[in-house]
Amino acid sequence: MKRKKQNPVIVIALSAVLFALCVLLFLLLRAILSGREIRTDSCKPSAAGEIAVMTPAPTLLDLYAYFDWTETTRIKVYDHRADKLVDMDLEEYIVGVVSAEMPAYYSFEALKAQAVASRTYTLYSMAHGGCHTNPDADVCTNSKCCQAFSTHERMQNTWKNDYADNYNRVAQAVMGTAGEVLVYDGKLCDALYHACSGGQTEDSEHVYANALPYLRGVSSPYEDPMREDDAAFDTDALVELIAAKYPESGITKDNVRDGIAIEKAYESGRVETLRLGKTTITGKQARNLFGLRSTMFTVEWTGKGIVFHVKGYGHGVGLSQNGANGMAKRGSDYREILLHYYTGVSIADYGADGITEKASPAPQNTDGLFVPEG
Ligand SMILES: [Zn+2]
Repeated sequence: MKRKKQNPVIVIALSAVLFALCVLLFLLLRAILSGREIRTDSCKPSAAGEIAVMTPAPTLLDLYAYFDWTETTRIKVYDHRADKLVDMDLEEYIVGVVSAEMPAYYSFEALKAQAVASRTYTLYSMAHGGCHTNPDADVCTNSKCCQAFSTHERMQNTWKNDYADNYNRVAQAVMGTAGEVLVYDGKLCDALYHACSGGQTEDSEHVYANALPYLRGVSSPYEDPMREDDAAFDTDALVELIAAKYPESGITKDNVRDGIAIEKAYESGRVETLRLGKTTITGKQARNLFGLRSTMFTVEWTGKGIVFHVKGYGHGVGLSQNGANGMAKRGSDYREILLHYYTGVSIADYGADGITEKASPAPQNTDGLFVPEG
């Protein structure tokens, strides 16, 4: 069949329209696709520690892909609120721990330091028998036993409209340090931490049973914020409290003013022993009795009764979270922070030869490793 000859002007015009349509289609498709993908070009933390936000909050798989992370360590977590054992990825667990243990608005490098400390603490605990109160679990979510932990539901309830932003910050701090742990002499450290040191951290044997070489008292000059709290008791309440717990002290309203005195203090300023009439109690016992934030306190008598002036918050051993925040604000990165608070340690990848071997015995937990921190 003979083809009909086309008019060249019409052919050129039709081709131009077709080309324009193709370009439009391409631009439309590109716009749709770019709207869906995570902006991986901008969400890595910058040198200044600022991060752009992925919206909505990325899944752990997004983060694994972004940080090119393929390893996974499964752990058994006992959720004490839901009363159930949950099988979980280690890094996912650490995101929940950092969310609960440190305010998400703290400096990004402080969050990273917390992530490494929490990961190390977790793996060290697992290598030393796991959770002490739940034999089937590696760790539990009770801050009085292991470490605090937030589920996604809890994060959403706590953070509300800031959920996506805060989750991003914490998850990126965790995945930015994925697999990194603290080792001393080639073995995992018992990476204890606390909220605020009051300016000086403490030797481990002054709080727990064992002297560990990497848990030495160091100065912590940039506590941000510095915690200073007063605990006041009028004389009647004070005498009642002491008589109920330590009747052997012989403390009465008549002798109480002469009966209470700090006997010995450590170099850090934390109270070692407090005299209560005819008996002597430790600084830790005094902290429990009077509900003080730490054992770094002085006493002052007023017309009404006694005031304990307390510095710091927590046991004072290892990393100070507020001290880490202060260092980060002054330009320290997470490695500098960790190497400051844990004496003589190095940062290694978990899973490398020797890292998972058993380290020296854990310090005895004499009054709860972690007090609920405010
Ligand atoms: Zn536990």
